[in-house]
Amino acid sequence: RCHRMLSTGHGQDEIRPGCVEKEESARMTRARRARIVATIGPASREPGQIKALAKAGVDVFRLNFSHGSHDDHAAAFKAIRGAELAIRRPLGILADLQGPKLRLGRFADCSISLQPDQPLRLDLDTTPGNDSRVGMPHPEIFRALQPGSLLLLDDGKVRLRVEKAGDDFCETVVEAGDRLSDRKGVAVPGGTIPISALTDKDLEDLAFALRLGVDWVALSFVQRASDMAELKKLVAGRAACLAKIEKPAALEHLDSILDYSDGVMVARGDLGVECLPEEVPVAQKTIVRAARNRGVPVIVATQMLESMTASPAPTRAEASDVANAVYEGADALMLSAETAAGKYPIEAVQVMDRIMERVESDPRWPGLMDAEHAGMDDVDADALVAAARKAAEAASTACVVVFTTTGGTARRMARERPLQPVVALTPSPDTARRLALVWGLEPRLGQQPATLEDVTEDAVRHAVDAGLASPGQRVLILAGTPFGAPGAANLLRLAHAPSIR
Ligand code: PEP
Repeated sequence: RCHRMLSTGHGQDEIRPGCVEKEESARMTRARRARIVATIGPASREPGQIKALAKAGVDVFRLNFSHGSHDDHAAAFKAIRGAELAIRRPLGILADLQGPKLRLGRFADCSISLQPDQPLRLDLDTTPGNDSRVGMPHPEIFRALQPGSLLLLDDGKVRLRVEKAGDDFCETVVEAGDRLSDRKGVAVPGGTIPISALTDKDLEDLAFALRLGVDWVALSFVQRASDMAELKKLVAGRAACLAKIEKPAALEHLDSILDYSDGVMVARGDLGVECLPEEVPVAQKTIVRAARNRGVPVIVATQMLESMTASPAPTRAEASDVANAVYEGADALMLSAETAAGKYPIEAVQVMDRIMERVESDPRWPGLMDAEHAGMDDVDADALVAAARKAAEAASTACVVVFTTTGGTARRMARERPLQPVVALTPSPDTARRLALVWGLEPRLGQQPATLEDVTEDAVRHAVDAGLASPGQRVLILAGTPFGAPGAANLLRLAHAPSIR
């Protein structure tokens, strides 16, 4: 039976191994379980650069719709699908929607200087601002403010205290900060703000991203479960949906948000604006733990190797931060400015890759990473994946091969955090690409098996081809019958590599 490979389009054109450049024909299997997400930007948009990033270890590329034009994103999308062919490994593409980010208007002189206790009025007037007033085009915010409310601007560098608020204005005084410039972001700490989850720009960007065929869509500034429900309804299964947790309100509603999310991100940048710095690591632990319990992939993001935007080596604190997230068992770690706009994008990925491998070779890693092992939920697949984990350990199995159509069984297997690598074998390119974000999974495209003999033969062949099993070693297989029908796995089989034909 022929090997089908990933295509540049939406899973149609078939490309055979002979088409792949010779020196790149070796399939890239990751030696680590944690995954790397890299943001595309001016420093990484070139097709050659994208291919080099994929080779260096990127598993999922992030298109940040807060920056760049649709043409930029379309070109990057094409280059990523091209890189996927070159490295013969499914790569995920995540479209990150800006969400309802609140911003000030502009100033006549681009910026103003601030003094302590200086009065500053914010209003709906669109004319350029000055020392005493500036526009803020968000009427719903004025209505939510009260005397004593705080406004945090420019990532918290400027703090304004509200003295008086009406339907279309508020009068504030400067509590902290010395300068304010055009279009700076505004955060209103505390409570849920009555704004809709998706702006007109988000709706346009979403339609565009779905036309491109992205694998994941992330929504920024999620506040409540209904924000994700709205996104999921619009996406209608065409991509997996990820909630960025960056507001205290989202932390409060984390459980219900997870009900509607296929993935979550600990978006530490904006989280650190409204929360005190000491709250950020606690929030990270809370989100990673809650997501892992649910079997929802979780990304830890922002400032992981920030100094590498300007330096070829990370700080010791950054190396420890990356290591900590790997010891926590997060599914993926994200690079933002490091790969989007930094001077050393490839080096940043290489450093992250090396830290991940180093941590995962530490004999303490399994115990620390799985200190709070997720118990079995009342899900059919859990009985089987829990048994698979134990059987794989007891039988000193080289790897586990999961046959998966929607990716559901593979994600439940990853939730078990087995020490053996897991090959997620699927006939669906969309599933393979979505699974590129998930801890410990090696997604591979295979054909739908028709018989138990096919299942065994395919599993062993893919395990050997991925370099995860050698002839003579055991491979544990998880599949569902009837073959090809989506549903919980119901078959566990131990095979030996010599059964390859
Ligand atoms: C963050 O705030 O940490 C984040 C990832 O979001 P963005 O980069 O879109 O601001």
